Amino acid sequence: MTTIGDGASLTLSWRELLELAEGFLTAHGLSPEQARALALSLCRAERDDSRSHGLQRLPGTLETMAHPAFNRKADPRAEMLTPAIIRVDADYGFSSLAVERGLPPLMEAARSLGIAVLAVNNGFHATALWPVLEEIAAQGLAGLSMNPTHDWVAPAGGSGGVLGTNPIGFSWPRRGRPPYVFDFATSAGARAEIALRRQQGRALPPGWGLDREGRPSTDPAAVLAGAMLPFGGHKGSALATMIELLAGPFIADRTSRQSALFDDGARAAPCHGELIVAFDPVLVGAASGQGNDAEAAAEDLFARIEQQGGRLPGARRHAARARAKTEGISISRPLHEKILALMP
Ligand code: NDP
Repeated sequence: MTTIGDGASLTLSWRELLELAEGFLTAHGLSPEQARALALSLCRAERDDSRSHGLQRLPGTLETMAHPAFNRKADPRAEMLTPAIIRVDADYGFSSLAVERGLPPLMEAARSLGIAVLAVNNGFHATALWPVLEEIAAQGLAGLSMNPTHDWVAPAGGSGGVLGTNPIGFSWPRRGRPPYVFDFATSAGARAEIALRRQQGRALPPGWGLDREGRPSTDPAAVLAGAMLPFGGHKGSALATMIELLAGPFIADRTSRQSALFDDGARAAPCHGELIVAFDPVLVGAASGQGNDAEAAAEDLFARIEQQGGRLPGARRHAARARAKTEGISISRPLHEKILALMP
């Protein structure tokens, strides 16, 4: 039941949140299957206080669905290219349904072969990577996922956009505990954060971007018109380049440059490929005959990190999820009103 929160927010149950997101998407003509898969990912992010990929993405789905190539009725099917390589063509719908359909054969192949690859092609991508990585970890497997975006990011030492904000995520399963999961963009700052700071009139931290002339800038508007920078200088730049290659040419799909050209000013979610790899740590460890206890070694590593006072990535989200279970999910009132106002 909806409860009224403070002036700035209101609290919804998980079911209400899902109904809101699914209802919005189907009301705009998205097939029920696609709407369910996308809404699930956005609602998980909202629940886990990962708002950048939560319900605030809903209004933008209208621009994506207006792209001339977008397919509201996309019905992706998984195909086995080899026993270890699965391909799903998202058929120019949102990538969430294609990923959902590729996961069961991916995990089955990883369990029998030790490692398997899922190539998702031609999907409009609007979600975070961690929800799927958590699903892989829940099956006792490790997961790795990455994708290009649009060429907003200059290479280290460069002066204009070539690379995407290219997110990368990884998960490792843990018995009886939430999995180890990290998931972040390879740009120094998130594009949404830069846009937000422009709105608020706040400067950017140094090292986030360049102006149109390729000069370092802390002005959000100048950086949005110029180029973002990768995190970690040449290291982030190389990582982003690897993501371009593995989730682009390797799976016969678009680079961030090609994805931006495909968008052609429509301001849709980037349309490209996604690479997901699943590994079976038990099978590979056992087959190597080294006799190392993979689980014990991994737990020792995590404990040593935590003993230093650090937290594991994913811990913040799981704390938010536990709060949502008892307190419900708080959503910004202006966002809620905007979603309702955009209902046809
Ligand atoms: P952040 O820089 O916020 O980093 C997020 C990751 O780092 C999370 O795994 C987070 O865990 C972990 N983390 C943050 N602080 C700490 C800490 N102090 N100690 C340990 N771990 C920490 O992420 P970004 O802004 O770069 O990306 C946010 C999201 O945006 C991602 O989910 C990404 O997939 C998504 N994205 C998606 C794109 C797309 O193409 N669809 C493009 C770009 C980004 P925790 O969650 O527990 O805080």
